[in-house]
Amino acid sequence: MHEFSISKEIAMKVKKVAQQKDADHVNKINLRIGKLSHLNVDQLEYCFKTIAKGDELLDKTKLNIEEKNIEVECSCGYEGQVGDEIKKLSSLANHLKCPSCGNLNPSIKKGKEIFVKDIKIVREDE
Ligand SMILES: [Zn+2]
Repeated sequence: MHEFSISKEIAMKVKKVAQQKDADHVNKINLRIGKLSHLNVDQLEYCFKTIAKGDELLDKTKLNIEEKNIEVECSCGYEGQVGDEIKKLSSLANHLKCPSCGNLNPSIKKGKEIFVKDIKIVREDE
């Protein structure tokens, strides 16, 4: 499952940062994912919970997922967001076109990213 390996990667990355910062718990993870990353947010949350369960740093960590829109650049000069109205990922590829000229192959600038924006940690001696 794609979501499971991504969650695992996120958990490992966050733990590493938290340990460097001498954290006792991680309160919250702000995650940013592009709509073209083909991730199911519910599944991602579920997988993360499974991985984090019982972990001294990640148990009870809140995963805050921010979905980013797709941004394209077209040969007509248009640069910006597309696909706001598209809810279903499966229909996305068929609807990805330049809103300005209708070109069906604008180059994708953003939308595939998956990254941890920031994390909130707790230190018990504070
Ligand atoms: Zn265009």
